[in-house]
Amino acid sequence: MEVCYSNQEAVILIPDISGFTGFVSVADTEHAQEIIALLLESVLDNNLLDFELSEIEGDAVLFYKLKPPFTANEVIQQCNKMFQAFHKILNEFKRKNCPCQSCKKLNDMSLKFIVHYGTLGSIMVNDYCKLFGKDLIIAHRLLKNNLRFKEYILLTDAFTNRFDFARENWKQKEIMIEELGLIGTYVGMLSKPLVIH
Ligand SMILES: [Zn+2]
Repeated sequence: MEVCYSNQEAVILIPDISGFTGFVSVADTEHAQEIIALLLESVLDNNLLDFELSEIEGDAVLFYKLKPPFTANEVIQQCNKMFQAFHKILNEFKRKNCPCQSCKKLNDMSLKFIVHYGTLGSIMVNDYCKLFGKDLIIAHRLLKNNLRFKEYILLTDAFTNRFDFARENWKQKEIMIEELGLIGTYVGMLSKPLVIH
């Protein structure tokens, strides 16, 4: 049985894949299943900072780390590694030029990251330790925002206030969350791997 804990400070990291719905709603799901498994693995396999995996929620992965020992830069680097691995898999499938309906939608797939710092609580549900708390809600709600980019890392002010962070090249954005108010964030771009034809 898992051991549950009361409120603790933690970094919450949510890599979120967009484009899943259109991808699995087509008739031919043979390649869709294989590709989705590989894309999720590209994220999980690059968890170099050893975040705890809480849940895979369809197209998003919920990671957290209590008493985080790392720097902001290390978290950003890990996101970049995940992003590169994700696009490497996508590129491999695109190169196959498969005519199936799923593979035609590969260009719709994208990956973004939410990084937040706050307090996590947990409750036992049968033998399962489920995370909860206001900061978890904030991290989830930030996935739905009005940013005009598809792929980025979004760091909340709570995260950048806690960890030393070089603000150059990051855009400051305030995001309104219903009932919770304005959340200050920094948004940074990710770089895709070079495609060699
Ligand atoms: Zn295919």
